[in-house]
Amino acid sequence: ATLFAAVEMAPRDPILGLNEQFNADPNPNKVNLGVGVYYDDNGKLPLLKCVAAAEKQMLEAPKARGYLPIDGIAAYDRAVQTLVFGADSAAVKDGRIATVQGIGGTGGLKIGADFLKKLNPNAQVLISDPSWENHRALFESAGFTVGTYAYYDAAKRGINFDGLLTSLNAAAAGTVVVLHACCHNPTGYDLSAEQWKQVVELLKARSLVPFLDMAYQGFGEGIAEDGAVIGLFLASGLDFFVSTSFSKSFSLYGERVGALSVVAQSKDDADRVLSQLKRVIRTNYSNPPTHGAQVVATVLTTPELRQLWEQELAEMRVRIKQMRGQLVEKLRSAGVKQDMSFVTTQKGMFSYSGLSKEQMQRLRSEFGVYGVDSGRICVAALNSKNIDYVTACIAKVC
Ligand code: PLP
Repeated sequence: ATLFAAVEMAPRDPILGLNEQFNADPNPNKVNLGVGVYYDDNGKLPLLKCVAAAEKQMLEAPKARGYLPIDGIAAYDRAVQTLVFGADSAAVKDGRIATVQGIGGTGGLKIGADFLKKLNPNAQVLISDPSWENHRALFESAGFTVGTYAYYDAAKRGINFDGLLTSLNAAAAGTVVVLHACCHNPTGYDLSAEQWKQVVELLKARSLVPFLDMAYQGFGEGIAEDGAVIGLFLASGLDFFVSTSFSKSFSLYGERVGALSVVAQSKDDADRVLSQLKRVIRTNYSNPPTHGAQVVATVLTTPELRQLWEQELAEMRVRIKQMRGQLVEKLRSAGVKQDMSFVTTQKGMFSYSGLSKEQMQRLRSEFGVYGVDSGRICVAALNSKNIDYVTACIAKVC
C-alpha cells in the first residue's frame, strides 16, 4: 500500500461546494446568495476608496518588506485596540489587553484556541446552535471537545433565550463560550442589550470564559453600536477574548486581516499572555504578512481616510438594510402569505429566511437561486437588479 492509501477524502466545505455548483449552472438568471461576501448594487465586490487611497500612499513611499514582529505591526495592533475597546478605555490605558495581528478573523480565533488549549487542556468549548460552520472545526482542530448552547428558535423566528441561559447554567466552570459579538452568522438574530447583560452576569457567576467573535463590526447598526457589547464585558471585569476580522468591513477578504485581543485583569497578566500568544504564532507561521494590516492601520489612523471608511461602511450597512426592507415588501406584493417582516429585525449580512431545505433546493434546481440548505441567504448579495427575480422565485416555492 502507498503511504496515502488510508487517507480518507475529507468532507467538502458545503458553502464552497455550493459556489462550484453555482459557477457550473448555465441559467443566465442565476443568483448566488450562498456566499458570505458583500457585493455592491452592481453585484461587484467593492474596492473601498479608503483602501485604494491608503494603497496609493503606500505605493508613493514604497518600503522594503522585512519580517514583521511576531505580533504584527505595532500601529495596527494599537488601532485595533482603539477601535474595539475605545481609546479611553481603562483596559487599553492600563495595558491590560494583549493584541496580536492575525491571519483574518479565522487566524485570530485559532491563535486564541491554541493558547486556551495549553492554558486549560480539559476545558470544553460551546458554540451557538447554529453557528458559523468553521467554529466547530476550528476548535476541534485545536483539540477541544465542542458542544453547543441553545440559540435559534425556529418556531419563534428568534432567539431561544431561556434555552441559552439553561445551556450556560449547565456548563462547567472554565468552559469557553464562543459568542457572536454582532450580526450573528448564520441566523442574523442578535441578543438585545438587556439579554447581553444577563449573559455577562451568568458567564461571570459561573466562571465561564467568553470568546467574542467580531467579524461584522459596523454591518449591524454602526461601529459603536455593534461594539457596545465589548463595553459590557469590560465593565464586568471578566477575562475575555475578542477576535476581529476586517475581511468584510474593509472588503479585504483576500488580504487576511484580523486580530486577537485578550483582556486581562492586570498588565502583568496581559504581558505574560502576550508572550504565549507570540509563541503560538511563532510555531505556526512565524509572523504575519504586511500589506493588508498596513492598509487598515493607515486608514484607521489617518483622520480623512478614517472618515471615508466610516462613510463607506455606512453605505454597505444601509444598502443591506434597504435590501431587507425590499425583500419583505416584494414578497408581500408577490402574494406570500407568511409575514416575513422578521427579516428586517435581523442584523448583518445574513438572513435565516425560514425556508425549508426542500424550498432551498427547489430555488436552486428550478430557478438558479443559490442559498444554503439551512435557509440562510446572504442579503448582501441582493441588489436592485436581482431582487425582483429572487422574490418572484421565493414566492413560487412558498
Ligand atoms: N467569524 C464569523 C462569524 C464569520 O462569519 C467569518 C467569516 O465568514 C469569520 C469569523 C472569518 O473571517 P475571516 O475571513 O476574516 O477569517
